[in-house]
Amino acid sequence: MSEKQTILVIEDERSISNFICRALAANDYKAIPAYRGKEGMSLFFSHSPDLVLLDLGLPDTDGLDILAQLRGLPREVPIIIISARDRESEKVKALDMGADDYVVKPFGVSELLARIRSALRRSDRLKLSQGIQRDVYQIKDLTVDLARHQVLLGEEEIHFTQNEFKIIELLAIHAGKVLTYDFILEHVWGPYSGSGSNQILRVNMANIRRKLKENPSDPKYIHTELGIGYRMLDD
Ligand code: CA
Repeated sequence: MSEKQTILVIEDERSISNFICRALAANDYKAIPAYRGKEGMSLFFSHSPDLVLLDLGLPDTDGLDILAQLRGLPREVPIIIISARDRESEKVKALDMGADDYVVKPFGVSELLARIRSALRRSDRLKLSQGIQRDVYQIKDLTVDLARHQVLLGEEEIHFTQNEFKIIELLAIHAGKVLTYDFILEHVWGPYSGSGSNQILRVNMANIRRKLKENPSDPKYIHTELGIGYRMLDD
């Protein structure tokens, strides 16, 4: 017996909010709608939701301010951004500020639910591991062993350069989550890597994919989020 998971939906457009809340209720979540940013924050404190869906275009506050407030709290709740089309820089900014994922309007129910499940799984994993650094990550038939500095594809060991390994390590730890180009560059090459280094990242990623025998048009492990970054596929 488990309690229903609670999802706070901060979205001012009634039709979208209703659509989301109906879909959540039909899939056994408890949905709490908020139509303003401030209302969202107060409902967050009164209901302690398991996840927040956050529209960035709100009438009273900037959605990014709400995101910053939520990320300033000690309890790390997964946040999925609801974004308008053609707001690439806004999405990247939100991800860099700690949002877990995003969906772009108009989105379908199955896409939304998949993103929610993935974010909740990741959050459960983090709660379970609390402070304990895991050594081995399993993504389908890919094994990333941090302690041994080893990557196995099935039974076969794949050899990577140091930077390629750092990229895989980062993606595996955050499996299911979109990592922005800047986030990866900073973690692998350091904070002063500069924006021109996207090319280096692309080259490294191409090598990784070749070694993993990825089919670029139908990736099994690493998905490209165009203009944003990369995501390791966890389901
Ligand atoms: Ca809006």
